[in-house]
Amino acid sequence: MNHNFTELFSVKDQVVVVSGGSRGIGRAIAEGFVQNGAKVVVTGREAESLAAAAKDMEGPHPAEPIVCDVASTEDIHRLVDEVFDRHGRVDTLINVAGVNRRKPAEEITEDDYDFVLGINLRGAFFLSQAVGKRMIRQGSGSQINIGSLNNFRPVKGVAPYAVSKAGMGHMTHLLAMEWGPHGVRVNCIAPGFILTDLTKKLWSQQHMLDWVTPNTPLRRLGQPGDMVGTALFLASPASAFMTGQILFVDGGFSSGIAWPIEFDKQ
Ligand code: NDP
Repeated sequence: MNHNFTELFSVKDQVVVVSGGSRGIGRAIAEGFVQNGAKVVVTGREAESLAAAAKDMEGPHPAEPIVCDVASTEDIHRLVDEVFDRHGRVDTLINVAGVNRRKPAEEITEDDYDFVLGINLRGAFFLSQAVGKRMIRQGSGSQINIGSLNNFRPVKGVAPYAVSKAGMGHMTHLLAMEWGPHGVRVNCIAPGFILTDLTKKLWSQQHMLDWVTPNTPLRRLGQPGDMVGTALFLASPASAFMTGQILFVDGGFSSGIAWPIEFDKQ
């Protein structure tokens, strides 16, 4: 067995689809794959920002922007047909597209619920399914879902989001069981608190920083780039015997309860 480091962690020439690749976590992950020689298709709803993001990504193969709203199964099928027409295969799918609406549970409307679940869970499921069917035919593939700390315990004030990410956790385990025999692996990265457009308003408040820093063993917020190494690992031969797992990339936040104990001074 060849354990050469470069080959073990290689994603070179893989065909990779990243939903939600125009900003934040998805953009950083897409960029990481482009830099490491993958052929990356990035998607998002907004054509202009998506094209600009793809243009900025530098690597041996240019990133390819394709507009796709994952809330629309029509869009999903158009995307997947287009990718297979161009490349004939998908090696890695990364389900990043996600949204949030923060409100007390009793104020959540049907629109809030359907909007968040429609993108974060229903959208991710049907994109996974459309790509999964073809990966089954290929006999190989890796799917990586982007979960959240809500896969550990629900975070107060984000009911539909918490439910969507919990669902994504089960979706990861379930698809891993059903598709493992076909050579298709499905894992989930659960990021901690990451500074992106989705969260910058929260983290611009001092009391939020005063809470998160001492409660995070690595004492900082995450950056989108902190997700790249784990995503490359889950797409590469290095993780060939891993499926159905949720990996927390959260600076240690989910490792335990940080309380303000003071030790006796000897
Ligand atoms: P951003 O808001 O920065 O980026 C979201 C990306 O998803 C954009 O590219 C956006 O493009 C795209 N997107 C949103 N809705 C859709 C849709 N319906 N169809 C296709 N693309 C869509 O978010 P983050 O980078 O912060 O979050 C990315 C993922 O990471 C989400 O799933 C989020 O839940 C998860 N996450 C984030 C954490 C954080 O602290 N930031 C923590 C844990 C998880 P466009 O608007 O053009 O569609």
